[in-house]
Amino acid sequence: MSPVIELYDTTLRDGTQGEGVSFSVDEKINLARRLDEFGMTFIEGGWPGSNPKDIAFFQKAQSLPLKHAVITAFGSTRRAHVQPGEDANLRELVNARVKVATIFGKSWDFQVKTALRVELDENVAMIRDSVAWLGQQGLEVIYDAEHFFDGYKANAEYALATLRAAAEAGARTLVLCDTNGGTLPHEISDITARVVRDFRTPIGIHCHNDSGVGVANSLAAVAVGAVHVQGTINGYGERCGNANLVQIIPNLQLKMGRRVVTDAQLATLTSLSLYTSELANLPPDDRQPFVGRSAFAHKGGIHVSAVQRDRRTYEHIDPAASATISASWSPNSPVNPTTAPNWRNSASPSTATRPRPAASWNASRRWRTPVTPMKLPTVRWTSSSAASWARTSASSPCTASA
Ligand SMILES: [Zn+2]
Repeated sequence: MSPVIELYDTTLRDGTQGEGVSFSVDEKINLARRLDEFGMTFIEGGWPGSNPKDIAFFQKAQSLPLKHAVITAFGSTRRAHVQPGEDANLRELVNARVKVATIFGKSWDFQVKTALRVELDENVAMIRDSVAWLGQQGLEVIYDAEHFFDGYKANAEYALATLRAAAEAGARTLVLCDTNGGTLPHEISDITARVVRDFRTPIGIHCHNDSGVGVANSLAAVAVGAVHVQGTINGYGERCGNANLVQIIPNLQLKMGRRVVTDAQLATLTSLSLYTSELANLPPDDRQPFVGRSAFAHKGGIHVSAVQRDRRTYEHIDPAASATISASWSPNSPVNPTTAPNWRNSASPSTATRPRPAASWNASRRWRTPVTPMKLPTVRWTSSSAASWARTSASSPCTASA
């Protein structure tokens, strides 16, 4: 049986590095609640050592009645040549009163020498000391190996030594980060497979989308044994964004057979995506796979007549039948009004300042074909059934929503 995959959402921390993405403390609390309901394993709340807003978030989060998720606080390893207990950044992680801290350290010798300007051995000691000290304070530690893939390509021995320091100091998970987003899927596969083989500590993946393959890289890592996936809702994040959980999650669940949330939770993915864009004050991406308004729309002609006969002709999953993301989908109502924020509804006081998408909802829908969604049991692709649709009954173990 495949190991459980942990979903680690960093929308509230790495996502807010994106241009124009900013959340108030209350918005962060509300989004954390939604992420918990959705079924995230971890929600990274912020970097308490970096700003007062994040400290306020962790204070408020103490009374958040979460059902599922664990809130984590983010920070860096200790500074060079100081004791961990004297490092303000590490102390803030303890003060955040979380059970799990995520700290990043440097894996790439070039970064250590050029950006950090410390000796290579001291960097390894910083990682080891910081993970060990947080453990002594009662925290579980997720270790984010910054620039891991670039570091591995430049000096594999050193990159692996930094990971080994974190593992030996007690890190619960070693997360391989493609911080600059320049690594391609075949490289992610090769390097992650090597690390999975060499380490007993569970391995995670954290990708950025600078090469347009953040989602593909994340899936490639899972395919070779990573069991923890970091990303953000809608792919928010600095530069070209983080790996997009809105696309990673249905791919894991519907195509790779890795059950990460219940069917009922998956059915709220569109709503979660729209809610997050509403909070971020950014227009939703109509062409976003799985959840965008155009994801299952067809513009007349041969495709429409074929889809009316059988959706499999031009759709990779059945949006209506698969109880996926698209519980809210229907040709005439792309967004479930009861659960999703409405961009055109000015009831929310903040909508007055919101940019409006160029095309109006109705105008852009004119060419949509009113195909009635099929009412079928859950449909999912699996690698073994790619040539034919595997329809499983509601009582099938793989579709039970326990
Ligand atoms: Zn990142």
